[in-house]
Amino acid sequence: MRSSDLLPDTARLEKVASGASWAEGPTWIPDRRAVRFSDVSGNRILEYSERTGELSVYAAEVEYTNGRALAPDGSVVQCSQGRRRMERDRDGAVEPLADQWNGRRFNSPNDVVVTSDGTIWFSDPSYGILKDGEGHPGELEYGDHYVFRLDPATGAVEPAVLDVRMPNGLAFSPDETILYVSDTSMELPERTPAGYPGGGHGIRAYDVAAGRWVKNGRLLLEIQDGLADGFRVDTDGNLWTSAGSAVQVFTPDGTLLLTIPVPETVGNLCFGGTDGQSLYITASSSLYRIRTNARDARSSFLPWS
Ligand code: MG
Repeated sequence: MRSSDLLPDTARLEKVASGASWAEGPTWIPDRRAVRFSDVSGNRILEYSERTGELSVYAAEVEYTNGRALAPDGSVVQCSQGRRRMERDRDGAVEPLADQWNGRRFNSPNDVVVTSDGTIWFSDPSYGILKDGEGHPGELEYGDHYVFRLDPATGAVEPAVLDVRMPNGLAFSPDETILYVSDTSMELPERTPAGYPGGGHGIRAYDVAAGRWVKNGRLLLEIQDGLADGFRVDTDGNLWTSAGSAVQVFTPDGTLLLTIPVPETVGNLCFGGTDGQSLYITASSSLYRIRTNARDARSSFLPWS
């Protein structure tokens, strides 16, 4: 796809809501026709209704949720940095899924993706136990920052990606054979306990074997001005990523196709709308929207509308 094909000619970035302290973790909720997102430091979950154009508080005192993902059964899996756990929301009823691996608590789960069979993959950097207003002070109990794979049928949790200093956003290729993980360790020059270098401001790619193991990790792309936090993959395999004060679109081989400037620092984004082609962008205090010609790769197996 050429860059000029990614957006319709009439596409314009618009601010649709504001008033968050730190907007993150957006996901389209089809049966509410709304974008649900976290106001992380505001410790609440907000929803923007596409039907009414109104912003409302979905839940308050939520223990610092961050990323979330719609699951194939219509529930929403979300990260709680304050509870240091993964949890599932069904129409406001929240149940815990997992909070530890090998007897040691997670750091502060940040972002999550659910695959077509319902398996949950999430990143576990330590911002929620290190930074004021994003959780509660705490210890690195397992001594590093991993991406974990959680099987909701058995509750089993296994480390999947070990070599990213601060794993953050994550997404799969359309056929789920490649896992992409962003590294937001740019501000951290020292090395991890496992000896991996910091300074990350890009996205790494991994081959996925049998839907369970990853191998052949490689740096796919680096953001030149800022870093990649949350991102999504479209049905053509292109990566739509936060990139400092912009959204950038890259091909599956890491070639930059498009830059969409945004007036605030972008933390995350998602596709939404009843046709799935509106891109919603959480950026600092606000929620932005722009029409695209793309759709989320996961829309093929999610209850989209
Ligand atoms: Mg994030």
